[in-house]
Amino acid sequence: MTDVFADLVGQDEAVVTLRRAAASAAALLRAAAPAVSRTGAPAGGGVDPDGGHDDLDALAEPVDGPGAADGRPAADPGAGMTHAWIFTGPPGSGRSVAARAFAAALQCVHGTGCGHCPGCHTTLAGTHADVRLVVPEGLSIGVNEMRALVLRAASTPSGGRWQIVIIEDADRLTEAAGNALLKAIEEPPPRTVFLLCAPSTHPDDISVTIRSRCRVVPLRQPPAGAVAEVLVRRDGIAPDVAEWAAAAAQGHVGRARRLARDPEARQRRDAVLAVPRRLTGVGAAFDAASALIEAAEAEAAASVAEVDEAERAALQTALGAGGTGRGAAGAMRGAAGQLKDLEKRQKSRATRAQRDALDRALVDLAGFYRDALTMALRAPVAPVHTDTAALAGAGAQKWDADGALRRLEAVLECRAAIEANVKPRIAVEAMMLALWKG
Ligand SMILES: [Zn+2]
Repeated sequence: MTDVFADLVGQDEAVVTLRRAAASAAALLRAAAPAVSRTGAPAGGGVDPDGGHDDLDALAEPVDGPGAADGRPAADPGAGMTHAWIFTGPPGSGRSVAARAFAAALQCVHGTGCGHCPGCHTTLAGTHADVRLVVPEGLSIGVNEMRALVLRAASTPSGGRWQIVIIEDADRLTEAAGNALLKAIEEPPPRTVFLLCAPSTHPDDISVTIRSRCRVVPLRQPPAGAVAEVLVRRDGIAPDVAEWAAAAAQGHVGRARRLARDPEARQRRDAVLAVPRRLTGVGAAFDAASALIEAAEAEAAASVAEVDEAERAALQTALGAGGTGRGAAGAMRGAAGQLKDLEKRQKSRATRAQRDALDRALVDLAGFYRDALTMALRAPVAPVHTDTAALAGAGAQKWDADGALRRLEAVLECRAAIEANVKPRIAVEAMMLALWKG
């Protein structure tokens, strides 16, 4: 009943595409298997018993499996399996959830993503030997990391099915890393599948050449009702809390779950939504900017502190403590270099965590001004933040639609400026002044 696609909230079209592709992939494996076990003579369809290029050729074109035997035309591009996929959609729409579910379906011993077999289980738990997940911790994915990954992805799958690489936030690839990936996608090993996740297929997010080699699975922002339903069903959250959290999270499933479960996340959101009330003058605007930046820094520091400490301890153990004699001086120089590398990586991760925390705050704030705008326009839509709807209503009266729109734009401009590497404090101060002045 609950297979691997069950948590893909409100994405019916994508699920149909992925199920069909998984069925095609399973058919491909079945077609290849008897050819090996027989006398070595290639089976029908030109499958090479060595698992050589015929597999690759078969994959280069859409392959129709039994899943497509429902009267659909054989040339339906949605029916086949292919080597490289991009999952696109707004944050929280479930790009990585979709990629993982698809990976599980490909490794499923039944070829369906049953959710119960060892292939499904280990893939979803992140322990499958043939599924590698890249989650960039810093602001970008570097070329060395990508080269190592591409090399390992070329090996034969130990489980006999597929060698899968999932790249979350593929929009954070450096240009060099993107080129290394492109080479692998252009000439993929026969059993290797790349699953990329990115906000969109805009050239800013993913290079045109990589895009042209991939099949795109667009995900949409799931409706609040669907998000609330999954919170109730899967996480056992009370229906009224689930509904509130789903609306407040604006279609972001992970954020909705955090709001429903984590009191600290709720407190941080309350503090952000108190900002509009507090903007009573220039001094208050600068104070509000400081408070927002410092809250993001504190949240980020808390989220990375544990990992940082564990990494430092592991490195120190690996390097050994002290030591004398001839080799020791050289070893110490090497150790200093490794420690420096680690510090650099940790700093990059901390910066990313700060930006993510700040962005979450800005999305909440944008929701508030969006509520004020829709109320000023008397638009028949539900508010994002039901708990501050009265305050947004008061704002709507005071500012009118024009004033609410200008304020909403100020928040969105702040997000764009930080994305474009403007110093967060400067961008946030400019935004607070604009919110105060209108
Ligand atoms: Zn399974």
